Amino acid sequence: MRQETKCIQAGYEPKNGEPRMIPIIQSTTFKYDSSEDMGKLFDLEASGYFYTRLQNPTNDMVAAKIAALEGGSAAMLTSSGQAATFYAVFNLAGAGDHVVSSSTIYGGSFNLFNVTMRRMGIDFTFVDPDCSDEELEAAFKPNTKAVFGETLANPALNVLDIERFANAAHAHGVPLIVDNTFATPINCRPFEWGADIVTHSTTKYMDGHDATVGGCIVDSGKFDWMAHADKFPGLCTPDESYHGITYAEKFGREGAYITKATAQLMRDLGAIPSPMSCYMLNLGLESLAVRVERHCSNAQKIAEFLEAHEKITWVNYPGLPGSRYYERAQKYMPKGSCGVISFGIKGGRTAAESFMKHLKVAIIATHVADAHTCVLHPASSTHRQMTDEELIAGGVGPDLVRLSVGIENVEDILEDLANALNQI
Ligand SMILES: *Cc1c(COP(=O)(O)O)cnc(C)c1O
Repeated sequence: MRQETKCIQAGYEPKNGEPRMIPIIQSTTFKYDSSEDMGKLFDLEASGYFYTRLQNPTNDMVAAKIAALEGGSAAMLTSSGQAATFYAVFNLAGAGDHVVSSSTIYGGSFNLFNVTMRRMGIDFTFVDPDCSDEELEAAFKPNTKAVFGETLANPALNVLDIERFANAAHAHGVPLIVDNTFATPINCRPFEWGADIVTHSTTKYMDGHDATVGGCIVDSGKFDWMAHADKFPGLCTPDESYHGITYAEKFGREGAYITKATAQLMRDLGAIPSPMSCYMLNLGLESLAVRVERHCSNAQKIAEFLEAHEKITWVNYPGLPGSRYYERAQKYMPKGSCGVISFGIKGGRTAAESFMKHLKVAIIATHVADAHTCVLHPASSTHRQMTDEELIAGGVGPDLVRLSVGIENVEDILEDLANALNQI
């Protein structure tokens, strides 16, 4: 199946007389005839459901669809993108370990790593994703367990050189984890470029309708844990909390990572999405390919319009030939990047505020990457406690406007922008 077909059909194949749509199994528990039957499930000797905190059939169908879209071997849904990022890293690294991460990642991920996971004893080195090979090499330590980056960074919009990062990670015997939220598997499949694990905030384009917060982790099934057994004792030595199972032996490359994330992390930390939320996510996934195509064609036209406008000082969009990331975007995401654009308005903070006031189609929201066009001026909202100098130092100047282009008729968005710019 091609991607568009997988969006509709992967993950669930109804048999004769069964419902066309995935059933919502909104049940916490599952019934068994004997304790022996259930015991086999607890021992991971048989596969089946017993408690929704670990696994639920509705959730698994949607996870299987995302695994198919990414070309992975297994996937797990989480109740938010934050939980997906946390589990993806914590499944490999614990106290005393170290992780190399791109510095231009989503603010929530940066905080999770730099504050919360540091408090758990995990060390991080942040590297500029466009640093030299020597600088990247120097970031690794003997206790490094993973490398992390974003295909298309939120909100910096730099394109990660996935092949380069994957090669560096593999040279040190560790996997590359890529957050593919902005590109989605419609525009980029990081596994084809050497990434080993993919994460998503499904809250963004996958759900696509401002409806449901969620996350996902997908395993490529390619990383050979046993070849680096000394680095990954959690996968390659018996788990005493799970009857002495060695995940990498029992479930192989294809299943070890996600089984461990389910059996240990979901069991103990419990960030499971409800079956109802997974059903909603599935509705979004069905139209993902068509929506992403429209997001990108709308955003391309709008980026070109903004670039040519006299009141606009700069435009950051990887689809513009003048972008520093144009070539790399053509390589990794030839069909398009995403719907998010950032740009600067002549006249700085005051001009940007006035522009925002006059928008009618684009709504002011702190969200990005869904069907509705929305816009944010960080200097007067999320970053308003900072001075202009501090904003510039942080790479979010007082003139910066972040526009998330939706799937409305592009003429309506263009008119709205032109009108608001005229009124500054
Ligand atoms: C939003 C976002 C997250 C966090 O996801 P939530 O679903 O909000 O928890 C992680 N990574 C990226 C790239 C995001 O845009």
